[in-house]
Amino acid sequence: MSNKFIRKDILCRVCGSDEIETILKLNDTPLEDQFVDELNKQREQKALPLELAICKKCGYVHLPYIINPEESYVDYLYKSGVTPGLRLHYDEYAKDIVENYNIEKESLVVDLGSNDGSMLASFKRQGMNVVGVEPANLIADYANQSGIKTINDYFSNEVVSKIVSGYGKADVITANYMFANIDDIVNFTKSVEALLSEDGVFVVETGYHPEQFNIKMFDYIYHEHFSYFTVGTLSYLFDQCGLKIIDVQKTKPKGGSIRVVTQKQDGLRETLPSVGMIIDSEKESNIYGIEMYREFSNSLQELKADLIELLKSIKDKGKSIVAFGASHSTTTLIYHFELSDYFDYIVDDNKAKHGLYSPGLHIPVFPTDRMYVDRPDYILILAWQHKLSITKKHKLIIEKGSTFIVPLPKIDY
Ligand SMILES: [Zn+2]
Repeated sequence: MSNKFIRKDILCRVCGSDEIETILKLNDTPLEDQFVDELNKQREQKALPLELAICKKCGYVHLPYIINPEESYVDYLYKSGVTPGLRLHYDEYAKDIVENYNIEKESLVVDLGSNDGSMLASFKRQGMNVVGVEPANLIADYANQSGIKTINDYFSNEVVSKIVSGYGKADVITANYMFANIDDIVNFTKSVEALLSEDGVFVVETGYHPEQFNIKMFDYIYHEHFSYFTVGTLSYLFDQCGLKIIDVQKTKPKGGSIRVVTQKQDGLRETLPSVGMIIDSEKESNIYGIEMYREFSNSLQELKADLIELLKSIKDKGKSIVAFGASHSTTTLIYHFELSDYFDYIVDDNKAKHGLYSPGLHIPVFPTDRMYVDRPDYILILAWQHKLSITKKHKLIIEKGSTFIVPLPKIDY
């Protein structure tokens, strides 16, 4: 299958091997984040293949079906600045990097996929010179207007030349939850190496799928999320691109993440023992084998059957259900578990989604006020990773007689 929307890779994008095997096949799903307005609702949004595959040679877990990026960035709504609590997180992040790696004031920090510039603003407060690279034009404009110099483009060798001639080489390069969304990951990483100063560090924070899969977080799989990294695969990738990992820390966001620090291969910093320890534990947990993924896939099927049975029995009793959460992960969950027949609409606290319709199925998204008026018998938390903050914020609805259902990692209500 190959057309302007999608292609299927038969070679590993990291090592070039053709020993690729599908390990998880999800239901076909439209682009998960393309919530549409009333006007665009008339347009059909095609469901496209969504699979995970593993390279048997280097262990790279990835989507073999790749969407053209021009398709996926069209209606890009998300701005990192809208997520509360992020400023504090970025301030700590920036401080950690500057202190741990002795980054001098006025050094150049480049953030790739810099979004609205929130993270670079934290580095600026640490006295650094900052430049962002962001392909989504509205968001790049917004960042420039708020005083964060931002190049509106995809990161490439041309962008590297532009930055080096204008500002010099970068002492810190960050890629925050975007490295997994890069198609040509090898050339991208080689461009990073070209931009990095001799004693600079490249810091990647990304989802860590061994931990995400432990809590059944399969709905973090979506069409713009091409790579599902282990430290072992990252180490192999960086090695090919003139970089080496010197530190890895596990972090909490998104059900399990890692912050990986790299430097040039002949860099002077010592490699910390955490790197070897995590790679060893990955080998022991058999994360590079295929059997684990088969079990994972089977356990999802069991969960799906149990959840459908529950929702059916609720509907049979004439009770009402609404769903909570409108994001790329809830789209994956709705499609793979085939949940759309069981609720009338979706509510979300995110204003940017209000008045829109879910991708493909066009289920309306309303403000959470709506559930206080309708008082549904049950509220299915599709955004289950945020169940604590949702049930805390909306505890009043329980007093009004509604019951929350949490679908994952096990059904709870
Ligand atoms: Zn490979």
